[in-house]
Amino acid sequence: MTLGILGAGQLGRMLALAGHPLGVACTFLDPAADACAGAVGRLIPRDYGDPEGQRLLLAGAEAVTFEFENVPVEAVRTLGERVAVYPGPRSLECGQDRLTEKTLFRELGIPTPAFRAVDSRAGLARAAAEVGLPAVVKTRRFGYDGKGQAVLRSPADLDPAWAALGRAPLILEAFVPFDREVSALAVRGRAGELACYPLAENRHRDGILRTSVARPGDGAEARAREYVRRLAEALGHVGVLALELFQVGGELWANEYAPRVHNSGHWTIEGAETSQFENHLRAVLGLPLGATGPVGHAAMVNFIGAVPPAARVLALPGVHVHDYGKAPRAGRKVGHATVRAPTPEARAEALAALEALAEGSWGGPQVL
Ligand code: AMP
Repeated sequence: MTLGILGAGQLGRMLALAGHPLGVACTFLDPAADACAGAVGRLIPRDYGDPEGQRLLLAGAEAVTFEFENVPVEAVRTLGERVAVYPGPRSLECGQDRLTEKTLFRELGIPTPAFRAVDSRAGLARAAAEVGLPAVVKTRRFGYDGKGQAVLRSPADLDPAWAALGRAPLILEAFVPFDREVSALAVRGRAGELACYPLAENRHRDGILRTSVARPGDGAEARAREYVRRLAEALGHVGVLALELFQVGGELWANEYAPRVHNSGHWTIEGAETSQFENHLRAVLGLPLGATGPVGHAAMVNFIGAVPPAARVLALPGVHVHDYGKAPRAGRKVGHATVRAPTPEARAEALAALEALAEGSWGGPQVL
C-alpha cells in the first residue's frame, strides 16, 4: 500500500517509519531536495502545486495526507479530486489563519484569549486599547515555533511590533498568564470514530516546544478531550488532531490547533499502545484505530540545534533516541528523546538528566 505525503520533514519521516510494519510505503512531495524524510521513502523534490510533482505523488497512492500545515489548500483540493485526501481541506484551511481558527473555537464554545483582527497601525492601537496590555501580536498566517509574533508590554512596544510584522494581516491576543500549557491529541477515523491520547503537559522556551510529559488522568484531561472532540467533529477531521491549550487556574483556553501529527505527541512512540504516527496512518487509510492508552510513564525532550551523542543519551534508563538526520543549526528541531519509566519518580529523574543533555551539558556545539 502506498501513501502520498505532502511535506517531508521529521513528521513525514516518523510516519514512514510507522508505516513499514504495516506494509505502507510513503512517497513525499516537498520542494526541499534534502528533506529528511527522503531517507525513508521516495522523495519528489518539487513544489506542492507542481502538476508533474502531483502526478508522481499520485502514482499508485491509496490516499494522500500532509505533515506540514502550511501546504497550499489548493494543492490539497486538486489532489482531492483524484484520490482520498485526509485530513480534508477544511481542517487545513481553517487552521492556516489564526483569526478563522480562533473564531471557530468561539463558535464551538471553546474558550480563547480575547482577540482582535489588526490590519493597520491605527487598528493595532485600537486593539491594544480594547484587549489591554500585555498582549501578543501575531501574523495571522505562516507563523510557527513563536516566529512572526511579538509581546506588547507597554504602548512603546507598538511601533517596533508594527515595523516588524505590519506588512502582513495580524491578530492581537490578550497575553495569557498561564500556569501551564497542555495539548489534547485525538485521532479520528474515516467513519467518525474518535480516540484520545492522555493529556500532554508542554514546556516551551523562545516559542519552541522543549519538553512534553504525558499526564494520563490529569484533572484537565476530560475537558481538553471534550474540546478536541468538538473541534474534530466540526472540521469533519480524519487523522490526528492536536489542540494546544493554556491552563489558567481551573480554566482551559485554546491557543491553536494542528491538523496533523504533533511534536507534543512524540512520546507516544514508546509511551502509548499505538503511536500517533501509526494511528494517523490507520485513520487516513481507513483501517481500525489502535488503542491510545499509556504504557508506563512517558515524556519527550526535543533536541534543538544539535543531537547529543547517542551514547550519552542512551545511558539513561528507559530512554530512546530519535535523530532526524538533519544538519545541526541554531533553533532547528533535529531530534528528540523519549523516556518511558516504571514510576513517575524514575521518569522525573531521567527527564532532568535528558533536559540537561538537551541544553548542552555534554559540551557540544552551542547552537541551541
Ligand atoms: P504559538 O505560535 O501561538 O503556538 O505560540 C508559541 C508559544 O508562545 C506558545 O506555546 C506560548 O508559550 C507563547 N504564547 C503564544 N500566545 C500566547 C498568549 N496569548 N499568551 C501567552 N503566551 C503565549
